[in-house]
Amino acid sequence: MSDDWNMRTKLVHGGTRRSQYGEVSEAIFLTQGFVYDSAEAAEARFLQAGPDEFIYGRYGNPTVAMFEDRIAGLEGAEDAFATASGMAAVSGALTSMLRAGDHVVAARALFGSCLYVLDEVLTRFGVEVTFIDGTDLDAWRAAVRSDTRAVFFESIANPTLEVVDIAAVADIAHAVGATVVVDNVFATPVFSRAIEQGADVVIYSATKHIDGQGRALGGVILGTREFIRGTVEPYMKHTGGSMSPFNAWVMLKGLETISLRVNAQAQTALALTDALQGRPELSRVIYPGHASHAQHDLVLRQMGKGGTVVALELAGGQAAAFRFLNALRIVVISNNLGDAKSIATHPATTTHQRLPADQKVLLGITPGLVRLSVGIEDPEDLIADISRALTIAGEKQ
Ligand SMILES: *Cc1c(COP(=O)(O)O)cnc(C)c1O
Repeated sequence: MSDDWNMRTKLVHGGTRRSQYGEVSEAIFLTQGFVYDSAEAAEARFLQAGPDEFIYGRYGNPTVAMFEDRIAGLEGAEDAFATASGMAAVSGALTSMLRAGDHVVAARALFGSCLYVLDEVLTRFGVEVTFIDGTDLDAWRAAVRSDTRAVFFESIANPTLEVVDIAAVADIAHAVGATVVVDNVFATPVFSRAIEQGADVVIYSATKHIDGQGRALGGVILGTREFIRGTVEPYMKHTGGSMSPFNAWVMLKGLETISLRVNAQAQTALALTDALQGRPELSRVIYPGHASHAQHDLVLRQMGKGGTVVALELAGGQAAAFRFLNALRIVVISNNLGDAKSIATHPATTTHQRLPADQKVLLGITPGLVRLSVGIEDPEDLIADISRALTIAGEKQ
């Protein structure tokens, strides 16, 4: 791959490995293992596998390698390791690098499963975790210590869309020698400049915008070659969280169109946010790409665009939120995001149902909050569907 290619060229051609048949669409190497020409060749490959030499599906695969190289080129990372899901990426990145006695500082506003890994799993193995408000730089300064080995946060928090300043947190973390691990799902690989802004390790759930069409689970860990091949790969290949070749192929095809999709989604999200200003049924409309977002300057500096998710707070609480969801005709009720189809979620009763009430209050997950993942449907149709559902939600109290 050419380093001087621009993003959209990298997304279509990056990482391609063409077989002797000269196929146009990337081949799916749906094989667990690989044949060696001789016993000596097998011995040599186990001693040191070359860049295009594979041993076993858990260790690597040509289709998976194409996906890894394509997304690494896109993100500006030296290397990448593809995983079975986003959570395999989060848990693999953290568990492979941490040991008992290490200290981690994490933002409090986290996806439920990320919170479980940090709060329940790592602590069980003697890692101390301090949770803070990720948007408060003084809190980061106060929490890091000389034994802080890593900091972890979602660059845009789910579902309240608060933004963490990657560059500022990286400065604070690097001052004590800590590794900056960013769960970058809501930023999408298209709008991300996380590595350039100081992130050492970037994680995506490929299930979201990378697939983008709701088909397969996947994840990826991006970082330096030394971290990916020296720390992550040995852990992942022995513990079993590698991506399947079929899913890698789905994700490769997803990367080809991701820039077109997420740019269209961001444009619709902005138009929708504009259209919803002043609606009496709504107490809040939150979109990082809109001038009304409290951290709009940071969003522009960090990503240029606001992403694909809008959060709405219905003034009438849960009853109004449910009336709104049930009145939607195009937008479906589900819990994924980043899909071509627009999806509405009620976090308080689904994705964040098990969070204690005081935590929900702390994180702004109110009974009226609805998360809208904006799809690639016609923007006018979407705005009409959402506006009509809001009118119905506001009618009978
Ligand atoms: C969805 C998600 C994950 C988990 O990804 P899976 O592919 O579902 O395992 C992790 N972090 C964030 C921010 C997510 O949105």
